[in-house]
Amino acid sequence: MQLSIVIPLLNEEESLEELHDWIVSVMQSNHFSYEILFVDDGSTDSSWDIITDLSNRNPHVKGIHFLRNFGKSQALHAGFKAVSGDVIITMDADLQDNPEEIPELYNMVTNEGYELVSGWKKKRYDSIIFKNTPSKLFNWAARRTSGVRLHDFNCGLKAYAKDVVKNIEVSGEMHRYIPVLAKNAGFSKIGEKVVQHQARKYGKTKFGMERFINGFLDLLTIWFVSRFGKRPMHLFGALGVLMFLIGFGFAIYLGIDKLFINPFGRLITDRPQFYISLIAMVIGTQLFLAGFIGEILIRSKKEEKRYIVSEELNTALLE
Ligand code: UDP
Ligand code: MG
Repeated sequence: MQLSIVIPLLNEEESLEELHDWIVSVMQSNHFSYEILFVDDGSTDSSWDIITDLSNRNPHVKGIHFLRNFGKSQALHAGFKAVSGDVIITMDADLQDNPEEIPELYNMVTNEGYELVSGWKKKRYDSIIFKNTPSKLFNWAARRTSGVRLHDFNCGLKAYAKDVVKNIEVSGEMHRYIPVLAKNAGFSKIGEKVVQHQARKYGKTKFGMERFINGFLDLLTIWFVSRFGKRPMHLFGALGVLMFLIGFGFAIYLGIDKLFINPFGRLITDRPQFYISLIAMVIGTQLFLAGFIGEILIRSKKEEKRYIVSEELNTALLE
């Protein structure tokens, strides 16, 4: 199969049929073999009934239904597990992404060697204050911390080579950073394509302003995890030792001063150095312990993927 189109959705009953028909017409006029996988992230409207209906009419339509709303990342994760196409397209269900872009995205992955192509909504039809400006800032920060040169990390319309989606774990709210996850997993041919963007036709956005706060926190997490996730002691241990030495230095200084230089001077507990020393040593010990606990946690976690095999000779790790 050439194409798998994964569509995460939450309460998008008004758009589904129109979106389906549009995708099908693009698939047919380009003679693609394809599947459309709707992942219903716990809709409470009639979305799932419509998907059931569509799949009765069109055998290319598949569906996954979550018991409740688990979030877009989880929907994508489930979709990625289930697909079997050579190229995977993700798109939003709200008709903001244009299916006409699919053939060119497919071409970039199959013929130009890209492992991931992200859409870039160069001209956006969203609110300027609440979306466009914060999103520019957010993309700038993501570029700076990750080194991935994209203008629009969070664009719902993306194309992936099969290897990419089978080897990354989209969890939490990390759907905003899939290109970074891909880069950290070792996929470096990441490209970008300017795509058409429409204003939301029906319904309203499912993410409020908290998206930006969560987005920046997730960016910190991903930065930390990609650098120190496998070796927390190198960060916490170093900081801990540094803090402890600072504290210890002050303690030595106070001790020498009290014993040999100024035995009848101020009480040690009256001096600021005493408190600096105390706090620095306590924080240092704690940081050091955080490093230790981190290392223990890593070792007790077994099921997580530590590496990705790309080729093999005479072994059978890859199925
Ligand atoms: N979505 C989802 N689960 C959620 C929130 C959103 O599957 O918990 C879907 C939503 O139905 C849409 C896509 O993710 O297909 C993007 O959401 P939305 O259009 O609300 O985001 P925006 O375009 O405002 O960034
Ligand atoms: Mg949208």
